[in-house]
Amino acid sequence: MSVRVRFAPSPTGFLHIGGARTALFNWLYARHMQGTFVLRIEDTDTARNTQEAVDVILNGLRWLGLDWDEGPVTSAADGPSKGAYGPYFQSQRADIYKVRIEELKAKGLAYEQDGAIKFRMERSPIVIPDLVVGNVTRELTDREKLDPDFVIVRSDGQPVFHLVNVIDDLEMKITHVIRGEDHLANTAKHLALFRAFGVEPPKYAHIPLILNIDGSKMSKRDTGASLSTYLEEGYAPESVVNYLYLLGWSPKENREVVPLKEVIEMFDLPQILRHNARFDINKLHWINGEYIKSMTSHRFNTLAADALERLGIAVRSYPPDYVDAALATAKEKVKQFTELPQFTAFYFKETVELEPGAQLTAADKESLAALRKAFGKLDAFNVEALTAALKQVAAERKVKMGALVHPTRLACTGSTVGPSLYHLLEVLGKEQVLKRFDRAITSL
Ligand code: GLU
Repeated sequence: MSVRVRFAPSPTGFLHIGGARTALFNWLYARHMQGTFVLRIEDTDTARNTQEAVDVILNGLRWLGLDWDEGPVTSAADGPSKGAYGPYFQSQRADIYKVRIEELKAKGLAYEQDGAIKFRMERSPIVIPDLVVGNVTRELTDREKLDPDFVIVRSDGQPVFHLVNVIDDLEMKITHVIRGEDHLANTAKHLALFRAFGVEPPKYAHIPLILNIDGSKMSKRDTGASLSTYLEEGYAPESVVNYLYLLGWSPKENREVVPLKEVIEMFDLPQILRHNARFDINKLHWINGEYIKSMTSHRFNTLAADALERLGIAVRSYPPDYVDAALATAKEKVKQFTELPQFTAFYFKETVELEPGAQLTAADKESLAALRKAFGKLDAFNVEALTAALKQVAAERKVKMGALVHPTRLACTGSTVGPSLYHLLEVLGKEQVLKRFDRAITSL
């Protein structure tokens, strides 16, 4: 039997990092088993449904590369890159729910009370077999002992979460429900509903929660709670994915940077850790640095250009070769894409401003004038020629190379730190460098 899993988020306008990890684990399991990954938007709470809230989820999954495998075909290319199918929306499945509600009524397992429809719940404790947590016995609470039945359709006609969640899982032939441990408490109800429909329930795997580093529960406002902040904070999606699979799953050899392809080969549900995971932004920061180091220049340049554009630096209005060469000088320097402006903004500005506190002395300007002469004579404006020219000027003027390097960097970038000097000069090119020298020499 082929594995079918699903991610079933409610559109709240927010994709929690825990939700993203749930999606990832479902996707990984589907890819590992060569099964099917279904995306189902649980949007029966019509008051909260907006296109924006759905887009937050779709964009988040696309950013992470978690493509879903089926769904109703839509004319708009709503689906992941390869297909034109949207996710399933519960709001479009009311007819399916109606049939199933009638079925329960006909079986005497659902009845009306005060305008609502209630489900005749099982009376004895329910054992939940869980692939991560083990067998969990759900005893009835005192209130449930008096009346364990629960509402499945509200008096306004809205079917409730438990009912539609189960109907969809059975209609969609879901084989494994992988979801957050916060849903363990609902599972007895879900199992009873499956039995009421006369269907074998799926296997459950409830994954432990993600806590803050101090062990407290992560709230919406905590750093790193929302997936969208990772893009804004300058992380590559592949690092976030790597970081997420370490949160709650452990490759055998305790490695921390593991290529996705290998994870797909290894991933299995029993290896999901039983203890709560703790969120550690420093680890992500380190992982991102490792990914940046090993990613291709093409990938780096694409992500870096996106990040700079987002940060208001219009790199895409410059020739692509120039942008690539400029970004290449920053690749070894940054661990997070938000650090890029500090290293590359000067490439994409017509005039350089000195950073606060920095200044060029009269001696610096004399050095710059001497260098300008030497650089002006160069035919090949490359690292070797620039290094030789600077050396020669230093010897002629009997100064250390540092005494020339520092003002050169300031004149061309405005900053005391940045990419390797000779490389950045080569990228800027003769015309720009001489222009920047002239402006620095004549500045007050
Ligand atoms: N809509 C539910 C949620 O977002 C789905 C729970 C489930 O995966 O069964 O928590």
